[in-house]
Amino acid sequence: MADDCLFCKIVRGEIPCTKVYEDDEVLAFNDIKPVAPVHFLIIPKLHLASLAEAEEKHAALLGKMLLLAPKLAGEQGLRDGFKTAINTGKGGGQLVFHLHLHIIGGGPLRHFAPI
Ligand code: AMP
Ligand code: ZN
Repeated sequence: MADDCLFCKIVRGEIPCTKVYEDDEVLAFNDIKPVAPVHFLIIPKLHLASLAEAEEKHAALLGKMLLLAPKLAGEQGLRDGFKTAINTGKGGGQLVFHLHLHIIGGGPLRHFAPI
């Protein structure tokens, strides 16, 4: 855990979130500035700054996050499909340096602003 990391603070319950899913390894919660009717983030509870910091030992955790995406998207009503995004590093437009998978949907794709 990183003391000054926003998403670690959410994991610790120090900053509130609207929870979509939680288990011992991952947390999913609604994005505070949604770009679509449904927009939530899946994060590992482990502090990983970005996908660029992921290693072989994180393979199962990354796989778990990806497999959760369609399950949680379906539970959130995205039965026709959804968009996923992982912004990595400054060049990738990443703003919060704790790995997160965006799940976006619920409207015509052309209406979604880039994230
Ligand atoms: P990025 O790092 O570019 O993938 O974007 C970070 C995302 O985190 C943005 O979509 C923000 O709206 C979202 N975000 C920032 N602060 C919070 C928060 N306190 N709760 C939920 N989502 C947040
Ligand atoms: Zn963190």
